[in-house]
Amino acid sequence: MENSLDAGATQIEIEIERGGHKRIAIRDNGCGIVKEELELALSRHATSKISELADLESIASLGFRGEALASISSVSRLTLTSKPADQEQAWQACAEGRDMQVVVQPAAHPNGTSIDVVDLFFNTPARRKFLRTEKTEFAHIDEVIKRIALSRFDVSIVLKHNGKVLRKYAASPKESQKQTRVNAIYGNQFAQQALQVNSQYDGMQLHGWLSAPGVGRAQNDLQYVYVNGRMMRDKLINHAIRQAYEGGIAPGTHAAFVLYLTLDPEQVDVNVHPAKHEVRFHQSRLVHDFIYRVISQALNQSFA
Ligand code: ADP
Ligand code: MG
Repeated sequence: MENSLDAGATQIEIEIERGGHKRIAIRDNGCGIVKEELELALSRHATSKISELADLESIASLGFRGEALASISSVSRLTLTSKPADQEQAWQACAEGRDMQVVVQPAAHPNGTSIDVVDLFFNTPARRKFLRTEKTEFAHIDEVIKRIALSRFDVSIVLKHNGKVLRKYAASPKESQKQTRVNAIYGNQFAQQALQVNSQYDGMQLHGWLSAPGVGRAQNDLQYVYVNGRMMRDKLINHAIRQAYEGGIAPGTHAAFVLYLTLDPEQVDVNVHPAKHEVRFHQSRLVHDFIYRVISQALNQSFA
C-alpha cells in the first residue's frame, strides 16, 4: 500500500483470502512500472525512489530501501502486473520463492499496478507455523489499513475479505469529509466529543483530534501519530502528549488521539528504525514543547 501511495495512486483495492494465508492482493491506479523495470522492482535493494545520496536527507516517499517486494517474493508466489498510462500493453512478472526466476509476459490490466501474493511462506514452513488464525491475521491487516486510511483522506480504499467488501473508505479530502472517515474508523462516540487542534509554530504544524477531558477509556486504544504522513510510535511525541494529559487539568482522562505533525523533512531522520516507525528530530526539544503546548492549550480551553 505504501508503494501505491508513493506511485501517486488515488484508488487502492485490497483483496484478502482467508486472512491472507491464501492470498493478499493490492491493486492501484498509480503511475505503474514500465516493462523493463518489472524484474528490477523485485530484486533486492532496487528502489526508484532515491537517485542521489543527498536524497537520503530529505526523504518524502514512504519506501526507499527496495526491500519489500524482494522479501515478499522470496517467500511466496508473487505476480506483479503493471501498466503505465503511456505504455500500450500491460506486462506481468511472476516470481516463485527464492530462486527468483522471474518470468515476464503480456497481461491485461488498466493503468496502475497489481501485486498478487499467493501462498505466503509456502517455502518456509517454519515461518508459516507462526501465522496466527485467519481471524487474527485479518484483524492485523484491517488495522494497518485503518492507519493508512487515517493518513491519506484523499485516497479511496476498499478492503475485501473472501470476496466480500468489508471496508469502503471513500476519498474525502475536504475538512468536513475527513470527519466522516474518522467516524467510520473510530466510531461516532470518539469523534463527536473529540477536540480538534490545528496550530502552527516555527515551520511545524500539528492538527488532528484528541479526546476531551473527562472522557473515559474507549474500547480500543486510539492513539495514532503521523509525522509527515508516516505513522509513528515515537517516545518523544508520546511523552509530550502524556505530559499534557497527566500534568494538566485532565488527570485520569484517557488519552485518545489522531495527530498529524508536519515539518520540514530535513528536520527529521526517518532512517532510524527498519520499520520506519521511529524518527529522530534534529530539534527534539522544540518539537516536544510545541506538541505539549498545543495539546495542553486545547485541553484547557475545552475546560474553560
Ligand atoms: P521501495 O518502496 O523501498 O523502493 P519496494 O521493494 O517496496 O521498495 O519496491 C521496489 C520498487 O518497485 C519501487 O521503488 C518502485 O519503483 C516499484 N514499485 C513497487 N510497487 C509499485 C506500485 N504499486 N506502483 C509503482 N511502482 C511500484
Ligand atoms: Mg516500498
